[in-house]
Amino acid sequence: MLKRVLFIALSYLLLSACTEERQVVDSSGSEADASIENNLIITEPVIVYSSRQEYLIKPLFERFTEETGIEVQYQTGEEGPLIARLQAEGEATFADILYTVDAGNLWSAANRGLLASVDSAVLQQNIPEHLREPQGQWFGLSVRARTIVYAKDRVDPGELSTYAALTDSKWRGRLCLRTSKEVYNISLVATMIERLGEEATQSIVEGWVENLAAPVFSSDILVIEAIAAGQCDVGLVNSYYLGRKQVDDPNYPVALFWANQETSGVHVNISGAGVTRYAKNPQGAQLLLEWLSTEEPQMMFSEMNLEIPANLSVPSAEQVAAWGGFIQDSINVEAAGRLQAQAVMLMDRADYR
Ligand code: FE
Repeated sequence: MLKRVLFIALSYLLLSACTEERQVVDSSGSEADASIENNLIITEPVIVYSSRQEYLIKPLFERFTEETGIEVQYQTGEEGPLIARLQAEGEATFADILYTVDAGNLWSAANRGLLASVDSAVLQQNIPEHLREPQGQWFGLSVRARTIVYAKDRVDPGELSTYAALTDSKWRGRLCLRTSKEVYNISLVATMIERLGEEATQSIVEGWVENLAAPVFSSDILVIEAIAAGQCDVGLVNSYYLGRKQVDDPNYPVALFWANQETSGVHVNISGAGVTRYAKNPQGAQLLLEWLSTEEPQMMFSEMNLEIPANLSVPSAEQVAAWGGFIQDSINVEAAGRLQAQAVMLMDRADYR
């Protein structure tokens, strides 16, 4: 019982950690410092299976341990094998959390029954509804925006508007795209199917293919470099890849344009995590997810990988903020998983390779 009360009090402290007011009232009615140092409950480590690379997760987990005393252990690997492993291990798994990129991957884990529903007021407050699974099986922790990039010297941003407008004949022979085999574009097309329907989406994808300046590229970086080299004038990439180029060279010849600002908003995806169905330390796991949704770790995501905080009350890193604010597509990112197979078939029909 005491444990339960402490856990609830702790959750309240985390909920309050994002507000200006750092004094909260504890259960005895007196004021308490909103620090989570006095954690008396969780002594077992939290174990994370992560497809995010070590350099991105280690600093976060170390801060969490400093603040809570709860140790975090992790194993990193490719998302497919990690999810397959979680499934093969079943009840015997050591993993308390699955942490990966792209809602399609999290959807797939949830769809196989590998994730538990988490009912957390902290996460419900800190993570917008469209970035989490409706039953709490996974939560977006950082936002990745997939938008238009263009050659500064050959394109007037006034000519740009929507993803669909890149089918216009004025872009004939001027568009570069990454392969359709890769999950970011599958998720983009899946979200378009959810919003526009299959027929309209297919004609957009066909229009893109008609406008290609070159065969599809294997990475977002190569798309950006092709634009910089003059091989094409516009492309679609995740914004943090351009951010990395701009960090190296502030005068990089490619710029970013927020798509669909007058219509449905920029296509967004997430890095995110869920508590595993057979977690041995579900309370510790939930606490770690809650902590990751608060201000300091949210800023760390943005600073370390130039992503956008999922928690809208947290500012982006300077480099990211320089692109200006933007409206996100409010379609729930779970559509990226649910419509994944349909998106793959559609791209195939449209001859998008
Ligand atoms: Fe990426």
